[in-house]
Amino acid sequence: MKEGIHPEFFEATVVCGCGNTFKTGSTQKELHVDVCSKCHPFFTGRQRGQAKGGRIERFKQRYSKD
Ligand SMILES: [Zn+2]
Repeated sequence: MKEGIHPEFFEATVVCGCGNTFKTGSTQKELHVDVCSKCHPFFTGRQRGQAKGGRIERFKQRYSKD
């Protein structure tokens, strides 16, 4: 029997590299990201840092269930 294998779930404050902050659910109280919905090329329409796309897409999928 395994008890306590599920981490605590907080309402985390996400701080983006562009200065934007927003709330999300996480096992951490504070998160730091390089891009967010305010500055990501997908939303701004600008091509920037193509390699970061996979990272933000994974992030969105992970936290888009609520
Ligand atoms: Zn941002």
